[in-house]
This record gives sequence, structure tokens and C-alpha cells, in this order.
Amino acid sequence: MSRHRIAVIGSGFGGLFFTQALRRRDDVEITLIARTSHHLFQPLLYQVATGILSQGEIAPATREILARQANARVVMGEVTGIDVAARTVTSTFLDQETITPYDTLLVAAGAGQSYFGNDHFARHAPGMKSIDDALELRGRIFGAFEVAELATTEAEERAWLTFVVVGAGPTGVEMAGQIAELARRTLKRDFRSIDPTSARVILLDGAPGVLPSFGDKLGERAQRRLEKMGVEVRLGTLVTDLDDTGVTVRDADGTESRIPAMTKVWAAGVSGSPLAVQLAEQTGAELDRAGRIAVQPDLTLPGHPEVFVVGDMATLNDYPGVAQVAIQGARYAADQVRRRLTGRPERGPFSYRDKGSMATISRFSAVASIGRFQFGGFIAWLLWLAVHLVYIIGFKHRVTTLLHWAVSFLGRGRAERTATAQQVYARTALERLDSRPEPDADRGSA
Ligand SMILES: Cc1cc2nc3c(=O)[nH]c(=O)nc-3n(C[C@H](O)[C@H](O)[C@H](O)COP(=O)(O)OP(=O)(O)OC[C@H]3O[C@@H](n4cnc5c(N)ncnc54)[C@H](O)[C@@H]3O)c2cc1C
Repeated sequence: MSRHRIAVIGSGFGGLFFTQALRRRDDVEITLIARTSHHLFQPLLYQVATGILSQGEIAPATREILARQANARVVMGEVTGIDVAARTVTSTFLDQETITPYDTLLVAAGAGQSYFGNDHFARHAPGMKSIDDALELRGRIFGAFEVAELATTEAEERAWLTFVVVGAGPTGVEMAGQIAELARRTLKRDFRSIDPTSARVILLDGAPGVLPSFGDKLGERAQRRLEKMGVEVRLGTLVTDLDDTGVTVRDADGTESRIPAMTKVWAAGVSGSPLAVQLAEQTGAELDRAGRIAVQPDLTLPGHPEVFVVGDMATLNDYPGVAQVAIQGARYAADQVRRRLTGRPERGPFSYRDKGSMATISRFSAVASIGRFQFGGFIAWLLWLAVHLVYIIGFKHRVTTLLHWAVSFLGRGRAERTATAQQVYARTALERLDSRPEPDADRGSA
């Protein structure tokens, strides 16, 4: 009997949880295609960037997670084409092209960073979407203190000791809090010429409040805590330009000013995977302003009940771009597939159950919004710790994460301060590689 062929795009929360939800079915064969060999736990990327965790702890190998799931295989590759009429997915890994035919397709390719039309900002202000981003930022943050130690003028030293984080959502708040803690606790005694505790950490946002999705009360609480830690919070402030040496901003009253700062982090704005454009063109589904594809109430595309889109690249009912939306969407889609295969009636529309949200500000301090309960402080931080530990995949990763947290939160150290030249200069190196002239056809490429 031929098995039902399922192609899955993405090894993030949507792709992985969908695949695992079908682990007991021997009437399906699943091909999970992803451009990275790992499943990335994005909520802890900022801890990799600031030296608390290693990348391995938050990015276990997808192949290892699925090793015992006989009905699933993993294919490395960047998906470049989806043909919904022919029901095939085309992916490329190095020079190898793979075509995967399917009966059912689940697309969970997530979202990328949006620079709101200013893509050239990316070179100077990495976002926080991948392990590459986190390691590059780690190199830049720790490297900035090293260069400041060697600075020959006060202005130079100040610019290297100024860190600007753009975007006061959870990622921006967590990054700003961690850079401040790094400067004031971890690096306090490590330098001789500079005083790391004098580092300026500036959190910018065009919105009037911090953590807008958590409501005014928790937002104000988070802002007070950040300010107590020495973070300068500048709200109603838009970035109008950004380059190697600083950021130009426009405040709410229209005044423009420049902040000399060598290290910038972009934590504002997302844009749906470019695969959404392909799917929209082929199915007539709409794209929203952030490039996410509008899905039907059952998470499929118009006229294509065999194509599900879940997670960050889909939009439905204004559900937020959070892990639980991707996980619940993935489990719903898996249930629909099971029902179809066994001839049971399909489920009604997908509806997201909000289990609450949390963000850390510093060690021992977080904010949590769970149903009608809104609270902050130590209890929220403990809860944050427990929830994140549960979602880290694999026992050994949980144990090492706990050890690293003990090092950083009980002590003042950071176990993962290493940054290699490759990581720091990788972006420039890759750009150089991209801009190399094509090899002369007569001489070949050798
Ligand atoms: C820094 C940060 C912090 C966050 N913090 C939280 C938090 O605290 N709580 C919370 O609930 N949510 C948080 N989120 C959001 C959460 O991580 C996302 O909502 C969730 O990861 C979405 O899951 P997804 O499966 O849709 O996409 P992702 O998890 O992003 O997975 C997308 C997958 O698709 C792959 N892919 C993309 N394009 C292609 C292609 N062309 N070919 C092949 N593979 C491709 C990627 O490699 C990846 O494996 C955070 C996100 C970030 C970036």
C-alpha cells in the first residue's frame, strides 16, 4: 500500500511539532526540508548573543530529534520553489537540487527581520533571527569593550561603549537588559583602561511604551526596571538613518539628533518568508503589509485544502507571531491530516488558545501576562525559567542550560564569551564573496 506523502518546509516550531504530532502513523511518509540542520529555539537567542548559553543548547540537530521517528526523513536545503499545481517542492543544498513530491504540504518557513525598506541597515545593525545573527552580535558586543580598552580619545571610547537597541518589544527589552547586566556585573573587573560599568545602553522605539503587547501596567513596570539598571529608554523616537558609527534619530517633537554608537542591534519588525509570495501568486491568497499570507480558517490556502501554512509566515485573526501560535497551528493541521486519512469528519476553524506571555528584563526580574493575571518580579522570572526549560528540547540540553543559568544568574560569570574572527567578520566576508566577479567562461572556475 502506498503511503501518504507529506512534505514539511521548516524545522522551527511549526514544522517540527507538526512532524512529531504524526509520529505514530505508519500510513504516512514525511519529508522535512529545512535550510538549517537544527531546530532553533529563538526565544533564547539573546542569551547566546550575550554569552550566557552556547548555540548548541538552543539549537539541537533536527536529525537527532527525529532519529527514532521512522516515518520522517530530513532533507537539508533552501526551498526555492513550490508548485501547488504539480504538488512538488524544489530545494537546493550546495549545487544539489532536490524535488520532493507531496500529497499534503505544510509550510512553516517563519519570518525574517524587516528593516522597513532600509535593508542597508542590516550591515550595521544585525537582527536576531538566527544563530549566525546571535554569534555575530556576541562578537560585536564583547569586541566593542576590547576596542574601547584600546581607544586613544574619549569620544572614540564613548562610541565603543554605547550600545543601541532598536525596538522595545520582548527581544529588544531582553537584549538591552542583558547588555546592561553584562557591562555592570560580568565585565566589571575585567578591564584596566575603561570602566565597563559606564557603558551606555539605549533602547529606542517609535511607540510610546515598552512591551506594548503586555499592556500599560507591565510595560511601565518593565521600563522602570530597565531604567533602574541604567538603560536609557527613548520612546516616540524613530531611527531615520544608521551607519557604521552611529544612529540618527527623530524624537516625537521632530528634532533630529545623532547618537555615536558602534554597536547596534535591530529588534524591530518582521517580514514573512518570501515563500509566502510564491504561494499567494499561485493560490490567490492575500499578503498583509508584513508579507504574511492570509490563510483560511482551517489554515489551508484557497482552493488547496492539501496545503497548510502555519506559524509566523501566516496571518489569521490577528494572532501574534509567537511560538504557541505555530505549535497549536501545527498540531491542528496534523489532526486534520489524521482525520482525512481515517475518514473522520474534519475539525471546525482553528482557534488559538492564549496561554500567556512573558519577557525577562534582568536576572530575577521578568513580567508575565497570563489570562487576567498580570505580574512581574521574581515569581514571574521563576515561571519564565521553568517554561523555557520545558520547551528546550532534549534532557542533556536542559541540564547544561540549567548549569549555565546558575553560572550567570547566581554568579556573575558568562560561560560562553568566545567569539571567533570568522563570526565577527563573517557578514563582510560573505558580502565580499557575493560581489566577486563571475569566473571568466574561457578560463573556467578553477
Ligand atoms: C529573538 C526572538 C525571540 C522570541 N521570543 C519569543 C518568546 O519569548 N515567546 C514566544 O512565544 N515566541 C517568541 N518568539 C517568536 C517565535 O520564536 C516564533 O513565533 C516561532 O519560532 C514561529 O515558528 P515558525 O515555525 O513559524 O517559524 P520558525 O521557528 O522561524 O521556523 C522557520 C523554519 O523555516 C526554515 N526556513 C525558512 N525559509 C526556508 C526556506 N526557504 N527553505 C527551507 N527552510 C526554510 C528555517 O530555517 C526554520 O527552520 C521569538 C522570536 C525571536 C526571533
